[in-house]
Formats: sequence, structure tokens, C-alpha cells
Amino acid sequence: MRLFSATIATETNTFSPLPTSLDAYKESVFLRPGEHPTDAPRMCTAPLFVARRRAAAEGFTLIEGSCFAASPAGTTNRADYEFMRDEILSQLKAALPLDGVLFGLHGAMVAHGYDDVEGDVLERARAIVGADCVIGVELDPHCHLTLKRVRLADITILYKEFPHTDVVVRAEDLLTLVLRTIRKEIRPTTALYDCRQIGSYPTTLPLMRAFVDKTAAMEGRGGVLSVSIGHCFPYADVPELTGRILVITDNDKAQASRLASELGQEFIAMRGRTAPEYLECDAGISAALAFNGSPVVMADPADNAGGGAPSDNTSILRRLMERKVDNAALGPIWDPIAVRLCFDAGLDARFPLRFGGKIGPTSGQPIDATVSVTALKRDCWQSFGPTQVPLGDCAAIKVGGVEIALISNRTQALGLELFRNLGIEPTERKLVVVKSTNHFMAAFGPIAQKVIYVDSDGPLSRDYRRIGYIRVRRPIWPLDEHTLPGPLE
Ligand SMILES: [Zn+2]
Repeated sequence: MRLFSATIATETNTFSPLPTSLDAYKESVFLRPGEHPTDAPRMCTAPLFVARRRAAAEGFTLIEGSCFAASPAGTTNRADYEFMRDEILSQLKAALPLDGVLFGLHGAMVAHGYDDVEGDVLERARAIVGADCVIGVELDPHCHLTLKRVRLADITILYKEFPHTDVVVRAEDLLTLVLRTIRKEIRPTTALYDCRQIGSYPTTLPLMRAFVDKTAAMEGRGGVLSVSIGHCFPYADVPELTGRILVITDNDKAQASRLASELGQEFIAMRGRTAPEYLECDAGISAALAFNGSPVVMADPADNAGGGAPSDNTSILRRLMERKVDNAALGPIWDPIAVRLCFDAGLDARFPLRFGGKIGPTSGQPIDATVSVTALKRDCWQSFGPTQVPLGDCAAIKVGGVEIALISNRTQALGLELFRNLGIEPTERKLVVVKSTNHFMAAFGPIAQKVIYVDSDGPLSRDYRRIGYIRVRRPIWPLDEHTLPGPLE
């Protein structure tokens, strides 16, 4: 038995003003055969990692292809996408004959000229391997679960958890089902239900937790092989952006359709009740100032680099300055040029600096202010769980009562060192503003006396009605009140 595995993955925010080129993949995951690490998978490479570990015991040979993955940002350069795709396809051709293929994809990758990158990869792969080869795909729930890709794959499995703690477990499930299909123990039969909705569904909140637990308990019983909940990735202007339910049964189409419809309707009934509350900027600042205790941690998810935002929006900072808020810290603002200017000015310098607000209209206007340089640090870092995340050269500046962490490597607020390494002690501040959606909670949650979520005018608005969709198929909630959900397959 012969299996092939490869990865091409990123989460494309088509509204992001930061294009994604080959360099972004090289900075993140750019692994050719023979270069794959043995200690742990990298981003979406779990199917390859898991298959390698199980190959000998389960009696198959794994042919390892290339794995490419980039951090979330804007649309991928067309020539660069085709280069990576064609490399994987030529490896696939060279690996023939094959019984199975495992793709570790993200599912929300867009390249110039390709709305549905994963559908394109699968279409070309299917043409090479033929109809009898079993194709298995692992996707992030923040994907576009297009009809094309679901039809082209035999088995598609999405992570269930958000935050995504089950990437490896789902890759194990995928490999198991692919092997059972090759051995003709099962005949995967798929149904897809379109919920016609855009939303956010952290599984740490009770409603979504219960829904995921319920669907997970159905798997492996009464012919149900797999149930996946497609959340959608809201920051992409592609026709098939929507929430969908995917059910795979063992050769029972009617059962798959019935279950997908039932779960789809349950998912629809949860609309508007699955995400935390978001305040407008000024209301958030007022609530923080009125709170008797400190620090208050205020999140700015709309400018989260982890969702493809530049992390240089200035709107909250501007209001803090205008309202003369004291004893506050804010970070990170990604502005390598401002960092350079601060290094040029020197520690303790007071000088006029223009910073932030550079990359696009959703960055707001740059701030022009006389700033004090309070810290300068080369090759700075912050922690995220057991890992160190590099921040590049960093500067801390003070404007009025607000201290700001300027960074050179674009990333979201994850660890307290973002501030501490620059001499800012977050526990001693009244207000700490972090650009992040939810990952900040690991480090900042324990020190926060109160957490406030603000919906700023950054590119990842939490109010999807404010996003400038043009090509998303309508009607869809919450852009439209009345929608037409239903089965697709
Ligand atoms: Zn995701």
C-alpha cells in the first residue's frame, strides 16, 4: 500500500493590505522531502506527521511531499502559488501508483486568480491519481468548505476545537478512515448542508462546547464516520464564504443528508449567541476607566495580526490620547520604520515621531506626536505557552500617559514579555490594550481584573455587516435577515 502526503496552507484575509509571497512561506513552513522535522508537526502538516509515525505498523509506505504554509495575511502571489502547487503535483505524479493521498490544507487560502485554492489543488491531484485512489483532506474550521473540494475528496475532516488543540487527533481520524476505505471496510458517503451564516464560534464558550461534544459523540456509532462543523473564515470576499455542516456516513446517503440537515438547523438556531460581547471603542475605554480595579485588559481583535491584520491601527490609541488617559499601555504596533527612527534618536530621547497608521485605510491615520523613547531592545521576544515568538527589534515610547510597544516582526499580543522586556510592567497599569482576538487570554487573562473586547475600525471587524463584501453569495446572515439554508449534496 502506498500513500502520499503534502501541505499547502495559509489563511487568506482578502481585505488585508499585506500581500503574501513565497517569502512568507519561507519564513514559516517551507519543507521539502527529507527536511520534515520528526519532533512535532508544523502548522497544517499533521497528516504527514501522523502517517509517517503509523506507516510501518499499519503496513503502508509513505511518500513525503513538500509542505508549504504561511502566517495569515493577504492574497497569495499567483506565480508563487502555482510554483508551490506544481512542485507538489510533480511529486504526486512521480509517486504513482498510489492507493491514498493525505493533504494537510488550511482551507481558506486564496491566490490571485484562485478563489478556491484547495479545490484547484484537489482537481489537479484527482486528475493525476484517478478515481480509485482515496483522497483524504484535513482542514481548519475557518475554511471555505466549497462543494467542489468536498466532491473531489473522499474524506474531509475539520478540526473540532477553537482554539485548535486537536489538529493531530483529527489527522489520526483522517488517516484511519482513509486506510479503512482503501481496505474496503467502509464506503464514505458525504452530505453537505449550507447554513448561510457568518459567525465566530469559540469552543471555550458553553453553547458551542455543547454542540461540538454532541457531534463528536455521534462519530463511530450507527454508521456515522465523521461530523465536521465549518465555521467559515469571515475575512475573505469569496462566493462560498458561509458556515456549513459536513457529515460522512458509511454508504448511507439518506442518513448523511438527514443528519447534516438536523445539525445545520441546530447551528442556525445558535446565530448571534456564540461570540463574546464587543463594545465600541469609546464605550470600552469608559468601561475600563469606570472599573474599580486594575489592570483592565482591553482586546482589539479587529487589528489581530493572527487574522491577517497589519497590527498598526491607531484608532484606540488616538482616543486614549484625546481623552488624556493615564497609566495605560498598548501593544503591539507593527512599525519597523518607527522602531528604526527610535533607535536613531536613542534611549531617553524626546523627538517628533510619526508612527502607526501606515499599511492601509483600515490602519487609521498615523499618529504624529512628540514621544519619549523609554526602551530599545534588539531581537526581542514574547512567550506563547512553551514557545518563544520573535518580535524583532523593539522600542517603547511614551505619549502623554500611554506607553506603546513598537515591534518589527508582525505578530499579535501573546505574552507579558511584549511589555516587560521593554520595561513596562502590565500588572502596574490601569489599562493594558492588546491587539489579539483570544490567544492573549493565556497570559493576560490571569493578571486581568477585567477583560473588555472592543470592536475597532481595524480590518477584522467583529460586525460582519461593516465588511466590504462584494462577491460573497447572498442572502447570508447577518448581512441579510432572511436566508435560504439547505442541503447542497
Ligand atoms: Zn482557524
